[in-house]
Amino acid sequence: MEKKLIIAIDGYSSCGKSTFAKSIAKLLNYIYIDSGAMYRAVTLYCMRNNLILNDEINRAGIIEGLKKINIEFLHNPELEGDETFLNGENVEREIRSLEVASHVSRISMIAEVRERLVELQQKMGEGKGIVMDGRDIGTVVFPEADIKIFMTASADIRARRRLDELKGKSIVTDFDEVRKNIVARDIADENRDISPLRRADDAVILDNSRMTVEEQMVWFLQMLNKMQNES
Ligand code: C5P
Repeated sequence: MEKKLIIAIDGYSSCGKSTFAKSIAKLLNYIYIDSGAMYRAVTLYCMRNNLILNDEINRAGIIEGLKKINIEFLHNPELEGDETFLNGENVEREIRSLEVASHVSRISMIAEVRERLVELQQKMGEGKGIVMDGRDIGTVVFPEADIKIFMTASADIRARRRLDELKGKSIVTDFDEVRKNIVARDIADENRDISPLRRADDAVILDNSRMTVEEQMVWFLQMLNKMQNES
């Protein structure tokens, strides 16, 4: 039986990490986990429970709230993909809002939030073929991952892609607002004290600014073949 791999995909906001990760998971028949959705779900919980008020965050309340948060990914056959559930409720659409995006970086800076989510992410990957995307997958969640990819693309291209994605979900916003949020999240994610966004030393860089998803998959398969031939 072929060895099941752990594939870690990190990188900047809206680089197309999830599209790429999902395509790999489908191709290899692996599980795909969107770790950003988990930070977004915790953020939504905080918003709903008044733990984020006028830019102030109730740190103690959030840490206490972590015990009451259950996050799952359940398959939706119609979409041929998984959706995020927070305490049994489908929140897939709500967690993609710009309001959640504007708070999520501050929630993801809290050490206790990260500890809890990393623990869950590691459990989800136990013994399985898994593709996980995020900011700290190759550095913290799975430092022993078999394949590590660090994705990047220009801010304009990323904002355009995010805008199209939001439009597809009938979420109304404009280019400047989306671009501002992307750049602000990159800065916050790269500069936080705990598990900042950075390329793992052994991660391969993929700049997909001018690549289609198909071209990215060709790139991935070449890398996978090369790696398997060398081992
Ligand atoms: O990937 P996505 O853009 O949905 O992630 C939302 C936010 O969650 C990021 O901007 C980052 O602050 C946080 N995040 C994180 N670590 C991860 C995944 C996401 O801190 N592994």
